[in-house]
Amino acid sequence: MSGRLVVLVGPAGAGKTTLAHRVIDLAPSRRGFSVSHTTRPIRATEHDGVDYWFVDRPHFESLRDHNGFAEWAEVHGNYYGTSRAEIERLTSAGRDVFFDVDIVGAHNLWRQYPESIRLIFVLPPSWQVLVQRLINRGTETDASLHRRLRTARRELQALLESPAPWTVVHNDDLPRATADLERAVCEPLQPTAIEHHPGLRGFLREAMSDPRADDDHSGQ
Ligand code: 5GP
Repeated sequence: MSGRLVVLVGPAGAGKTTLAHRVIDLAPSRRGFSVSHTTRPIRATEHDGVDYWFVDRPHFESLRDHNGFAEWAEVHGNYYGTSRAEIERLTSAGRDVFFDVDIVGAHNLWRQYPESIRLIFVLPPSWQVLVQRLINRGTETDASLHRRLRTARRELQALLESPAPWTVVHNDDLPRATADLERAVCEPLQPTAIEHHPGLRGFLREAMSDPRADDDHSGQ
């Protein structure tokens, strides 16, 4: 495989897809976005084949059982997966492929393609901004908001325990975060101690003190 796999992980609402598309647009002939399959219902603003391939559970399970996915996971009660055909389609032309997956999917891709992968954790400006974005989006019920906050907290904890090399991109200023991501994609990997990342420490503190992200929160 000649292209790089750029895997973006981070809470829903962190701006992963916006960032990915900005960096892809800097070199569109050499980069592409991996469109995942999902069983989640389509949102009013989304398009089939652009945001995801929206499929039903039997279709997803059939693809999965025929080894059609390089990785898949169940997130928030829905299936999400990256098809082998999508990776093949993009990398066969030597292009860099950008992924928006959860941390389980990221680890699975890292194990399969350790040489060509860049693992990026996209950190929202702050926990409060993240919560407000999810509320403003208008797509979340109370229960689904709490579920997403729980997932965000769990992913942060998994990140800190991850054996894989990560780069943190703090998305508190879009042009700067775009430049940071571009650098992380292009430059050789610099292993950094992510637990010392100042933005990450503050974010984790806020995440840990928000009762809406507790496992036993009554809104689940
Ligand atoms: P959303 O429903 O908000 O579009 O996505 C929910 C979560 O599913 C996000 O954290 C996203 O990164 C994750 N996700 C999207 N596509 C995939 C995929 O193909 N594989 C995995 N493992 N996770 C995915």
